[in-house]
Amino acid sequence: MEIGTYIGGTGYIEEVAAYIRVSTQEQKMHGISLDAQVEKLEEYAKANNLKIVEWYKDEGVSARKLIKKRPELQRMIHDAEKKKFKRIIFIKLDRFFRSVAEYHECMKILDANHVTWTATEEKYDLSTANGRAFVNMKIVIAELEADQTSERIKIVNDYKVKEGLPLFGTQSLPICFCVKQPEPGERHKYIDKDPKYEALMYDAIAYVLKYHSVRGAMTHVNAKYGLNVGYNVLYNALQNEMLMGTYKGNPNYCPPYVDAETFAALQRIIKNNIKRTPQNRIYLFSGLITCPECGRRLTAGMHTNKRKLADGTVRPHKYAMYRCMNANRDKKCNFKTCVMEITLEGKMLEQVRTILDMKRAIVESISESKEVTYRYNLEELEKELGRLNYSWQKGRIASPEEYDRQYDELTQKIHEARAERSSTPTYDYTHIEDVLSGDWKAIYNELNPEHRRAFWRSFVEEIQLDWQIGNAARKQIKDIKFF
Ligand SMILES: [Zn+2]
Repeated sequence: MEIGTYIGGTGYIEEVAAYIRVSTQEQKMHGISLDAQVEKLEEYAKANNLKIVEWYKDEGVSARKLIKKRPELQRMIHDAEKKKFKRIIFIKLDRFFRSVAEYHECMKILDANHVTWTATEEKYDLSTANGRAFVNMKIVIAELEADQTSERIKIVNDYKVKEGLPLFGTQSLPICFCVKQPEPGERHKYIDKDPKYEALMYDAIAYVLKYHSVRGAMTHVNAKYGLNVGYNVLYNALQNEMLMGTYKGNPNYCPPYVDAETFAALQRIIKNNIKRTPQNRIYLFSGLITCPECGRRLTAGMHTNKRKLADGTVRPHKYAMYRCMNANRDKKCNFKTCVMEITLEGKMLEQVRTILDMKRAIVESISESKEVTYRYNLEELEKELGRLNYSWQKGRIASPEEYDRQYDELTQKIHEARAERSSTPTYDYTHIEDVLSGDWKAIYNELNPEHRRAFWRSFVEEIQLDWQIGNAARKQIKDIKFF
């Protein structure tokens, strides 16, 4: 249920206050403007039978600023106390607050005056405990993000630039970004999308997501834009976290090309994408199969057989296959078998659904009985970062170098803690079940090789084999790791 929605009484118009806020940084970096927010809120009001009786606009104010330094927010709270309105609308919670303490302080006053709020572009339900917990969580996250981009951090970054550290170095930026010189009245250079490569990059990302091939993307975009972007340049850019706007713990480092989820998907694809795969042949499972003896990923290649035709002529016949280079080239492994793609594809089609069902059953029984334990305490680390920033703001840390060192150390740990959590299985296979449902095999049979390759790669991360040559019973998929 949406908050503050009046039921019934057509023609009833509710009077509300509208709050908007934008920081200088956001205006510059993300083009978020007051005007855009005004427009969105006006639209919302119109569609929901609301009348905006008063606008409150804090411009050039970060959400970290205390209430007393946000004149318009202050005025709004006073007006709430004077019962000028019963509800406040703003587009997103992060426009309103990025500090848990301030949020609660303000809520106390609003609650006392029976004033509710609505984030027009987000859904919260404050009438349930879950809904309230969710709001708190959102603010805690926003608070942490704001901490990391606080003015002090920018000072440290400037310091790094001064010292010649490659934080903002043009040379080290991915191809799709450039350093913009400050405009008159601005103090700092900033990073922006490079207009020369922006469209190309979007196309390359879309291509890799769809066809799982960096080399294919390179050929495609170079032909389309008449440019000559090298494989490694594109490959590196696709793997750089700046693509999602973050850099070394700064979540708003630059304008993003993709969101975090898409970036993660991209990385999985690239990780499984073997660089040397020749263009003219599509291997369905390259980079996905691990050697049953040594664990190395098998390398795709062609195998030539002599095949006797009905009329007695012998023709060479080519098969796609996979083999372990540790065994076949470096003699460090005993798995000399060539895994034929056609056999493997058949086994995959036969076994994938069974393996999926089995895994889900196991996972369900485990998740009922076991608690997951982590090596790092993420909440504690985040608190510590808060304390560090606070100490620095209060001038209790002597040098930027010392702050910098501690900051890097902490953010590194936080990064590891997050990685640890995200690598813990979420036990959700529904997206795969959706793919492997109905008459999916019939659909699969209609796909061309490129699309078959993309199909497997959309949910398979690793294929483990039990594969013995000359023993049909031992040509099985042992396990599949799903995304
Ligand atoms: Zn091997």
